[in-house]
Amino acid sequence: MAENEQQKWFAKDTDDVAQALETDASSGLSQDEASSRLEKNGKNELPEAEKEPTWKKFLKHFHDVLIYVLLAAAVVTAILGHTVDTIVILAVAVINATIGYFQESRAEKALEGIKDMLSLEATVIRGGDSQEIDASELVVGDLVQLRAGDKIPADLRVIEASNLNVEESALTGESTAVEKGTEPLDEDTILNDRDNMLFSGTSVSSGSGMGIVVEVAEQTEIGKINASISEVDDIQTPLLKQTARFGRIIAMTIVVVAAIMFVIGYFFRGYEAGEMLLNVIALAVAAIPEGLPAILSIILAIGVQNMAKRNSIIRNLPSVETLGSVSIIASDKTGTLTKNEMTVTAVMTDEHDYEVKGTGYAPEGSIEKDGETATPSEDKTLYHFLHAVKNTNDASLTKDDDDNWTIDGDPTDGCFLTLAEKAEEDIKDLEVISKIPFDSDYKYMAVLVDVDDERYIYMKGAPDRIFERADSVFDGGEGRDFNESEWEEKMTERAKQGERVIGVALKKVDSSTSEIDHEDIESGMQIIGLAGIVDPPREEAIEAVKECTRAGIQVKMITGDHADTAKAIGHQLGIGDGEHALTGREIDKMSDEELDDAALEYDVFARTSPENKLRLVEAFQRQGKISAMTGDGVNDAAALKRADIGVAMGIKGTEVAKDASEMVLVDDNFRTIVNAVEEGRRVYDNLKKTILFILPTNGAQALLIVAAILLGLAMPLTPVQILWVNMVTAVTISLALAFERLEEGAMDRPPRDPNAPLLSGYYIFRIILVSVIISMAILAVNISMLNQEVDTAIVHTVTLNMLVFAQLFHLFNCRSEIDFAFDSNFFKNKAVFIVSAILIALQLLITYAPFMHTLFGTTALSLDQWILPIALGFAVFVLIEIEKLITRTIVRKKGKTD
Ligand code: ADP
Ligand code: MG
Repeated sequence: MAENEQQKWFAKDTDDVAQALETDASSGLSQDEASSRLEKNGKNELPEAEKEPTWKKFLKHFHDVLIYVLLAAAVVTAILGHTVDTIVILAVAVINATIGYFQESRAEKALEGIKDMLSLEATVIRGGDSQEIDASELVVGDLVQLRAGDKIPADLRVIEASNLNVEESALTGESTAVEKGTEPLDEDTILNDRDNMLFSGTSVSSGSGMGIVVEVAEQTEIGKINASISEVDDIQTPLLKQTARFGRIIAMTIVVVAAIMFVIGYFFRGYEAGEMLLNVIALAVAAIPEGLPAILSIILAIGVQNMAKRNSIIRNLPSVETLGSVSIIASDKTGTLTKNEMTVTAVMTDEHDYEVKGTGYAPEGSIEKDGETATPSEDKTLYHFLHAVKNTNDASLTKDDDDNWTIDGDPTDGCFLTLAEKAEEDIKDLEVISKIPFDSDYKYMAVLVDVDDERYIYMKGAPDRIFERADSVFDGGEGRDFNESEWEEKMTERAKQGERVIGVALKKVDSSTSEIDHEDIESGMQIIGLAGIVDPPREEAIEAVKECTRAGIQVKMITGDHADTAKAIGHQLGIGDGEHALTGREIDKMSDEELDDAALEYDVFARTSPENKLRLVEAFQRQGKISAMTGDGVNDAAALKRADIGVAMGIKGTEVAKDASEMVLVDDNFRTIVNAVEEGRRVYDNLKKTILFILPTNGAQALLIVAAILLGLAMPLTPVQILWVNMVTAVTISLALAFERLEEGAMDRPPRDPNAPLLSGYYIFRIILVSVIISMAILAVNISMLNQEVDTAIVHTVTLNMLVFAQLFHLFNCRSEIDFAFDSNFFKNKAVFIVSAILIALQLLITYAPFMHTLFGTTALSLDQWILPIALGFAVFVLIEIEKLITRTIVRKKGKTD
């Protein structure tokens, strides 16, 4: 609607806005109209940030130390007239860049797919029905419902607002929330003061409301200032950065060593300058682990993809590594550890206890008093109780296509709709005149309604919040005495069985009252009754908690629920002892030092506020713990941001919470967090194994060349042959460990120390040991063959195969860092066998194909000449397994005596 671009929607009446946009302020656009507007005006999307063109991305892979070395080699060989070598080297340079390019785009694709899973949703009213759609499908004229925690999906003119506060820092830089209303404003009101407009990219911090879409896509204020949607962050992870830095150090060292070698070779060993130049270039090519960074990013990308398959969406790559070192998981109770399938089983009023029959959300069952169906119209207390719970409610109850009853919204609300439906008579859907939406900070909600021509405030919330505000018990008149300890008892009895208890109260107000706020329910409430709700623990969570205990991860339950409920459910799950819990109020009184101890000592934290969560995360961090913390509401954002791994709920979580977190749980399930930790450990292990595998490859080749130069021997391999070795291993066996399964026992050991260096002393020892074994064995064979004056082509071909086969066998050593190579996972990683087969085929090709002989200067080997490569491979494998056994014994012994 280009003609509307300059409209001052904020200066118009809401009715005029609706009329101008040809929409209905209560039922919205029809589905057909919305579709045709979408067709005509396009999607509600901001243009993506300019992407780097493919050719540029490709060329970037030529900006690499190794490529420079190769290009230098190409020049040298060209000058020396070795045309074949020049061509091979140039071809290798191109192939290498191509591999790098494809590996990088594969990793990027994996991440893009993940990004798509995080698209923004909006609740619209179309044709009178409320539905969730992708925010990109919003059109001008759509009616959008908003709740605390929602991100505003387009520019809207507010038409309904109850305590609607919006945080607009994304647009105005102002971080205090602004209260929004519906009244038209002056024509010349500046952007920051347009308090009846909601702007795309900002978010609702509290309250609720509704707005009409007036601008979409680039026409929104945020679109106009040309901000693109925030992208998935950084592709760099601590480990990748560490290896990149490490790679640069190696490259520099190599250049220096090469220069020294040149001097030694030329002046003291009688090599010719041209030949020597080629040798040092060969040395550089051999020693630089050029493929490593690309392989590491692939491993991370595969990890992110696996996690997505297992229902956790990682929002930034470094978290994959962090997950592996998590030592505390602090989880919400409701819905994460429990099933979130709530059923009201009992209603308790001053005079009666009612039993509620039937489970699940299906409104089948009854409300019974002393074994007989209760009749609300004859029981004023029950009558108001049911009207209160049905109308202080944001959920909706529907039957889906498969005839299953489901709820839309908060299950704590949803189960009350089912309860109301179970009543013998119709419970009225009342018009809400004003409301205080639920917020986990104050733990209640309230509405202003007319019931049978009288005006009431209904309130539903945590019993303690109700008790504080009640001074009498509802009896249809002035009210009876409120005996708090009696009610406490009623509540505790239920809570101790793990039930969630919700209190309900009312207050009669003057019929002129048209708005309510927190002060209006500060006191004078009349308590109606309590409801006991069961929400059983998830079976898979019980298992997952056990797994965490074995894995040295502490599980903490942090809930807004009552301490007794939390303790009982915690006990059923294996969290805490069922007797101890720390409450939010106790936390409030503690100093940071006191909290440091308490945070680790207690496992169950009840009646917590979002502020408590933040303090707990900080306490964990001060104690050197790496914590994953779950959250769903707007107020959780601070704690989620602060936690090492903020975990937002995918289903019930708000957009603001998702934005603040590192990871989103598609299924809101605790088990999924543990799965992600498991995957995190697997990824980190595989990163380390890959490094452990690749570095000796380079080390052995470099040592071999250095030794040959120092001894003044003929080069064991030509530069192109070295290139071959590096290429074939980079595209085959170097990738194999990315697919290695989780090691047996990986979840039986404590979390990794996040401060431990990547290359531990043991790793350095192993890398040197393997490099020395391989290079010295090959050197010995070389010397003996040279003494027997074997043909150079044969010496080169044998050496080439010895190098490759030593690595191939060593791959099997590296499948487990320290444990015996053969375990139950041995055949599970099919990739290992596939790439091994490909590698063997390639080696046969270079050994037997005549054109390869021409290109690489190799020659066919006889059967007995194959003994050497295979024997060396076997020897490496056996020696390293023996070394692992010895190390294992030492480590375990030390572990016992420590
Ligand atoms: P949690 O999800 O950890 O149980 P919440 O912050 O959601 O914590 O809820 C805290 C308390 O607020 C609950 O124990 C309950 O007493 C009350 N409460 C939760 N949801 C509702 C709701 N929809 N309406 C009224 N009270 C609620
Ligand atoms: Mg909740």
